[in-house]
Amino acid sequence: MPMKFRVSSEYGVLEEIRGGREHHGVDLAMPQGTELHSITSGTVERVVNHGADNIGRGVIVRTDSGELHVYGHMDSVAVHAGERVFPGELLGMSGNTGHSSGPHLHFGLIKDGGFADPTGLIPDLQRYSGEIAGPSILGIKGPAGWVADKVVDHAAEHVAHGAREHIIHWLSEAAGVLVDLSYGIGLIGCSVLIILGALGLRDGYRWSGLVFGAYSLIRLLGGGLSR
Ligand SMILES: [Zn+2]
Repeated sequence: MPMKFRVSSEYGVLEEIRGGREHHGVDLAMPQGTELHSITSGTVERVVNHGADNIGRGVIVRTDSGELHVYGHMDSVAVHAGERVFPGELLGMSGNTGHSSGPHLHFGLIKDGGFADPTGLIPDLQRYSGEIAGPSILGIKGPAGWVADKVVDHAAEHVAHGAREHIIHWLSEAAGVLVDLSYGIGLIGCSVLIILGALGLRDGYRWSGLVFGAYSLIRLLGGGLSR
C-alpha cells in the first residue's frame, strides 16, 4: 500500500516555527514509524543527528544524477554513509525528531548547490514509501530485491484471483450436475407414475403431475443457480 500522508507545509513558505525563514522542503504529515524508502538509486551521502534541533535524525541520499534528497525528523535510520541504495530500499522510519511540532517527514531537494522545490517528487515518495515490507520480502537487497518483491506481490494477487475463478467455476458445474440430476429423477418418476396410472393405480396420474411440478420447480431454481 502506498504511504498515507498529507502535505502539512509546502516548499518556500515563510513560517514562524522556522523564525520566519523560507521552508527548504516539503513536510508530509504521517504516522510515526512509517517506512521510508529511497525513491532513486544513489549513495547515502550522510546520516545526521541534530538531536532536538533542525531536522533531527536524517538521511541525505546523493542520487546518481548528482542531486541530494534530504529526509528529516526520522525516528530511526537503517542505512549508513557510503552505502549504495536502490529505489525501494528502506532508509529508516519516519518520526518526530529535531525541531518539529508533530510526526512528519521533511523532504528536501538540493540541486546545483541550492535548495529546489521537491513537490514533483511527492508521487515517487508516496509510491515507494509506506507499508512496503522491509528492503525485500525475500531478503534480497538492491534492485533484484525490489523486482523480486514486485514479482511476489503480483504472483500472490494472480494466484488469489485464479483460485477464486476456479471455485466459482466448480460451483457452477456442481449446480449444473444437480439440475441434470433433478431432471432425470423427475422424468423417471413421472414415467413410472404414468405407467402405474395406466396399470390402474388410482392416483398415479395425479402423483405424476405433482412430481412433474416439483421437478420443474427444482429445475427453475437450479437453473437460476447455475447461470
Ligand atoms: Zn520541513
